[in-house]
Amino acid sequence: KEFTDLNALCHEYLRLSYHGLRAKEKSFNAMIKTDYDETIGRVEIIPQDFGRVILNLLTNAFYAIDEKAKSGIKDYEPTVSVLTRKENKKIVIKVSDNGNGIPKEIAEKIFQPFFTTKPTGKGTGLGLSMSYDIITKAHNGELLVECEENKGTTFSIIIPV
Ligand code: ADP
Ligand code: MG
Repeated sequence: KEFTDLNALCHEYLRLSYHGLRAKEKSFNAMIKTDYDETIGRVEIIPQDFGRVILNLLTNAFYAIDEKAKSGIKDYEPTVSVLTRKENKKIVIKVSDNGNGIPKEIAEKIFQPFFTTKPTGKGTGLGLSMSYDIITKAHNGELLVECEENKGTTFSIIIPV
């Protein structure tokens, strides 16, 4: 573990994944919102592993908004938000999107290894199960999901400091 600037880490992965997608896919577009708690300071994490979790949550969020945008809904503004907070000896990081959310019957399976709803080649179904292990086992934290069908999804990482 290393003391790491979490806001900078989140922002770097946000930048990389957003520009990566923009470069790869001409039609990809997203509004990005960030709300970083500057009082967080440096947090003791495994930066590579933590980065993988952030990247996976962002990749899923961008995929969700892109799918919804491609479905041709009127006046849709595809948006991904990243928020950090320090509260009561806990660090909270939220990655939200305004995609279609996760249907109830699927929600309980998303953390299982190899569960994916994406076409072959687009997803391995390993991102969330790996993320769950990294957060709960290696960082003694929690990975939670909230979603509202047709409105979007929020994943929260909560780790003790
Ligand atoms: P993969 O991205 O390879 O499919 P993940 O483990 O990252 O695997 O995600 C598993 C499944 O959870 C996805 O296939 C999708 O059905 C669902 N999912 C994850 N994140 C989101 C999201 N932000 N919005 C909607 N569905 C999601
Ligand atoms: Mg994924």
